[in-house]
Amino acid sequence: MTDANCLAAEPLIAVRCPACGNDTSITGTQKYECRRCGQTLDPREHRIAILAEREAAMMRRINARQARAFLVALANIKGMPYGLVFLPASPEDLAFQYRESFSPAMDNYQEAKWLVNHKLFRQFFPPNFPDSWLARSCGGSEEQKQAASLAQIVTARNYLHLAWKATDSDERAWRIRALREFARQITIHPSASSTSLTASLQIGPPPKDAFQQALLYFQSHGSLARRCLNPDCRQTPYFLAEKPNQKYCNERCSEVARNAAKKLWWKRHGTAWRKSRSKASARMKPHGKR
Ligand SMILES: [Zn+2]
Ligand SMILES: [Zn+2]
Repeated sequence: MTDANCLAAEPLIAVRCPACGNDTSITGTQKYECRRCGQTLDPREHRIAILAEREAAMMRRINARQARAFLVALANIKGMPYGLVFLPASPEDLAFQYRESFSPAMDNYQEAKWLVNHKLFRQFFPPNFPDSWLARSCGGSEEQKQAASLAQIVTARNYLHLAWKATDSDERAWRIRALREFARQITIHPSASSTSLTASLQIGPPPKDAFQQALLYFQSHGSLARRCLNPDCRQTPYFLAEKPNQKYCNERCSEVARNAAKKLWWKRHGTAWRKSRSKASARMKPHGKR
């Protein structure tokens, strides 16, 4: 039976909203908006099959070891975020910025780039990085787009530092929540609009991609977040403790600290110790073997 009023000639295309994940069917010619978040839907870019493939790559379950490795790597990258820096920068970062202020901006993002390209961490970032939500929103040259995407990662690190330094579990949960919202900007489909990004976060928590899974791991294991007590620690000043009373990130840092403590002891007590020792040996002399 055919209905004369039905536009049966135009085939329907199954699409998924790139912001909120809502599935719907649209025709290829009209302009459609997602009913949940207002995102404009594109019959080519938002086909369910295409989005499902992207999700499969990003939503794979990660284990605790991967979560820990990613969190520590992200926490320890260097570089300055650009734009509105409302999050505190570490003294090392300020020094770096000062040193590098006459070099091309990309130097600043070398470590963020290293993180994105590292084979262990590829699934934490969108498959077509640096084609990210911010890069598309900002536009500009390829280099500018790349810098914008990498700057997002450096900013995420600053959010993570705040969670790392939190003094109680309530503050930590608050910081992680802020970071989870921010991280969605990094992993959301690049075609999402700002409005639908905001709307999708109001609907509920973001999809559990690898980045979000790592942050959920941090939420439940955040009490192991430590800062290495070796003031000269360069490699992993932010680390996750293996044992509850661990104070240094690795054996080398605790060795350095032990040696420094010994040196300090000698500086303070060395003269007195040598005096008492020479007195003792003077008393011993008559009986000493020579
Ligand atoms: Zn939507
Ligand atoms: Zn250390």
